[in-house]
Amino acid sequence: MLNIALCDFNHTTIGIHTETMPLAIGLIGSYIIKNYSDNVDVRLFKFEDDFFHEIDTWKPDLMGISLYAWNTSLGLHMAQIAKNKFPNITLVAGGPNIPIGNEETIEFFKNSPFIDLLINKDGEIPFSTIVSKLLLGHSSKDIIDDRLPSTIAFHTKSQTVLRGEKGDKIKILDEVPSPYLTGLMDKFFKYKKQTLAPFIETNRGCPYACTFCHTADTYYNKPQWASTERLQQEMEMFGHYYSGHHDVRLFLADNNFGMFKQDYDFAKTVRKIQEKYNWPRYIDVTTGKSRPENIVKVINELKWGLVTGASMQTLTEDVLKNISRKNLKYKDYLYLQEQSKKHDRISATELILCLPGETFDSFLKTIKQVIDSGIEQLIIYTLMNLNGTPLYDQLKKTPEIIYKYRIVPRQFSKLGSNYIFDTEEVVVQTPTFSYEDYLETRGLAFVIQTIYNDSNFPELINFLRENNISIYDWLVEIHSKIKLLGNIASEQLSSFLWETEQELWESEEELQNYYSQDQNYNKLISGELGCNLLSKYTYLSRFHGFKPWLEVTLDSAKLLLINSRNSLSKKKIETLMQDFSTFYTHSRDIGRLFKDDNFLASIQKEPPIIKLTYDIPSWSTKTDRSSLIKFQQNHGNYSMHYSEEQLTNIQTIASQDPNEQSVKLQYIIKGHTRDF
Ligand code: SF4
Repeated sequence: MLNIALCDFNHTTIGIHTETMPLAIGLIGSYIIKNYSDNVDVRLFKFEDDFFHEIDTWKPDLMGISLYAWNTSLGLHMAQIAKNKFPNITLVAGGPNIPIGNEETIEFFKNSPFIDLLINKDGEIPFSTIVSKLLLGHSSKDIIDDRLPSTIAFHTKSQTVLRGEKGDKIKILDEVPSPYLTGLMDKFFKYKKQTLAPFIETNRGCPYACTFCHTADTYYNKPQWASTERLQQEMEMFGHYYSGHHDVRLFLADNNFGMFKQDYDFAKTVRKIQEKYNWPRYIDVTTGKSRPENIVKVINELKWGLVTGASMQTLTEDVLKNISRKNLKYKDYLYLQEQSKKHDRISATELILCLPGETFDSFLKTIKQVIDSGIEQLIIYTLMNLNGTPLYDQLKKTPEIIYKYRIVPRQFSKLGSNYIFDTEEVVVQTPTFSYEDYLETRGLAFVIQTIYNDSNFPELINFLRENNISIYDWLVEIHSKIKLLGNIASEQLSSFLWETEQELWESEEELQNYYSQDQNYNKLISGELGCNLLSKYTYLSRFHGFKPWLEVTLDSAKLLLINSRNSLSKKKIETLMQDFSTFYTHSRDIGRLFKDDNFLASIQKEPPIIKLTYDIPSWSTKTDRSSLIKFQQNHGNYSMHYSEEQLTNIQTIASQDPNEQSVKLQYIIKGHTRDF
């Protein structure tokens, strides 16, 4: 019997990074069990305490570790412990960002000599081949010398990299049994400390070739599919289990959801589950980059949950060429948004800062175009230099690029006396984009995230659009105003920028030396350092700065409205802004629900009365977009209530462990505040 440990470790010092079930190792495990069921004992590990609890008595012979940007150091640390305990264990690592180039591979094996083999690309077949060799009695050394397909190893004596040829890949996803349906994942459903979210692979691969992504390789160009029957069974299992857990998202491993016919079939399955189990409320997936009519069909089919996330990364033509990226056509992008709104779905997009060839002006132009197109959420990421992507080699050719290192948000642990930090290498300056531009854009990104993304103020945004005010100009106005205010909102912006600089280090060693000192490590534990800064500060602005942020938001709107050529009198504009202030103070200050234990009880006992001159709630539900001015009302007042469902949702989140609660709230604040 061969004991096989498959590990996708997560730091759990502050919440977990990936709240999903460890799908990739589950698939490898179930493929191995299918091939060698009588001869293997396969166990999956996501948490290091489970691993330590079992391995001394169980003694694994083979260990596979998944390496991602957020857990590479942790995975390697655990692999080294296993090697020290069991010198004969065979250690295999894989994942999207393993080193591919010769130089990086040699460095990797020199730093981690306990790893025997790397698997390049999909793991099921090469891992299964390694299992077959071990079952035949081959040693790790034999397997290294064999140069098996899809493997990379290092020959210490000759200091050379040993590469197997390109291996076969799975043709249909059903060749790999579902790890959920076979019961291999059962332990993760029962895990008590965190509720892990279901993660389904509907298809694998992507027809595009963006150079910043490991899926750009031709290996992944032809997508493969899971059968409808398999997906139906998985969804039935999840619906049954997660019914009532509104806060648990369904994650889909699908790079272009909605583009293909199969996605519509899957959407029908999800709809049935939503009707039957009242779940899932939120679905996490990226939508496709062509065939918008198919995507719209899928959006219409689902009852809830899909954020139409057409990522753009940039709209600058030259930059798109530099990264071999094909975006959704702009007219299709607009069509998709229009349709998303029509069906009350949130539309979102992502941009990447510091892509090769981008300038400050061209990037701001992209932001303006995207926001003024009507998108409801915009996330701006900093470019990461990821091993295993074509961009990694592309960037090497530009020595002027400045890279810095930072901790992947919340990804650190202290195990025994060892400090473990997972870090990411980010680009903060290119020949066309200065470091000062980087900081300025980060500040604007924070304002966008706080004011625009969290769906707190959609009514105001619609009203400004109705009056031909550019939302981009409004956000830029807020950004420049906040810098001068001297109140808690400006302090939050300054702290955000200060931390944006503080989180960057010249090298990984420097970062590790600093945080390995107890007093500095404690700052990570307390959340003073090492968080996702956009999430942390959006959360702070919502929970500890709602009023000043609302004030600057309305002041900037007022200024632009007064200076514009619309027919509204100053007095009318002031009354309208007062109404928005009253409406938002009562309906969007989510912090009160969780900070003040008595708040819910008090409003249930005596619901507050909201007086408005203009009937914002009823105007906002009109789809024909008639003017708010026509909604000057005299029919009375509003009182405030929470539905049973909202109360249950609030209570579920309020009762969670503080770390899990903070992660959930940061997610909600990012785009679902309206649900509360
Ligand atoms: S479309 Fe998405 S998954 Fe496909 S190559 Fe580009 S970034 Fe990667």
